[in-house]
Amino acid sequence: MTIVSNLRQWSLLLRIIASHLTRLVSTQGAVVNPQIMAFFVLHDQLEVEIESAYSDENQIIWHVCKSIPSENLLHQTGTLKINKERRIQLAKYHTVLHVLNTITLRDYKAWITGVQIGEEYSRIDFNFENFSAEISAELEAKVNEVLNANHKIKSYYISEEEFVNRKDLLRTLDVKPPVIDNKVRVVEIEGFDAQACGGTHVDSTLDVGRFSIFRTDNKGKKNKRLYVKLQ
Ligand SMILES: [Zn+2]
Repeated sequence: MTIVSNLRQWSLLLRIIASHLTRLVSTQGAVVNPQIMAFFVLHDQLEVEIESAYSDENQIIWHVCKSIPSENLLHQTGTLKINKERRIQLAKYHTVLHVLNTITLRDYKAWITGVQIGEEYSRIDFNFENFSAEISAELEAKVNEVLNANHKIKSYYISEEEFVNRKDLLRTLDVKPPVIDNKVRVVEIEGFDAQACGGTHVDSTLDVGRFSIFRTDNKGKKNKRLYVKLQ
């Protein structure tokens, strides 16, 4: 990949690195995938940490560096390296998010409205009516039951036409999953759930660990924010 500046965002000059190649290893589409933060850029001996990423209207993934790289890196070539530990942590949280959002929708008719996945904990917002401490405890127990059942996890692609007819694959009301080359990626937890998702996941629910909700906040009348942790 080549380090370039993004003229469209002059203020971010030198802070952005773009590559067509990164499409091979990153989620595409307009939605910023927090898991892209797992990547470092290696340029000779220099490692540049990636803070976030997004795709523009030409489907090019732009990588935003955490700190501003030196000007003499411009137009030079480097490679992407995955921060494996971080990637595994994020994959665990991403996987448990599928289990949680399936249970909340199935049993409580609660739709997910926002997510912030982290290494230490994650924050998940739901449109959740009548949420209570009892429901929070119920959720923990139900999620852990699914995790302990050792469901295998796999991913595959379906056509956009098929996706449109599969309302069951949708988990967010606001954000549509990325459609690339007329295809949508599906992540299936065998024997439990399938949903559209471009993220990285573990191979089995047993790899996730133990799930707990350690804090809940009200965000508006119906919106609940859950802080969740894996151990
Ligand atoms: Zn996912």
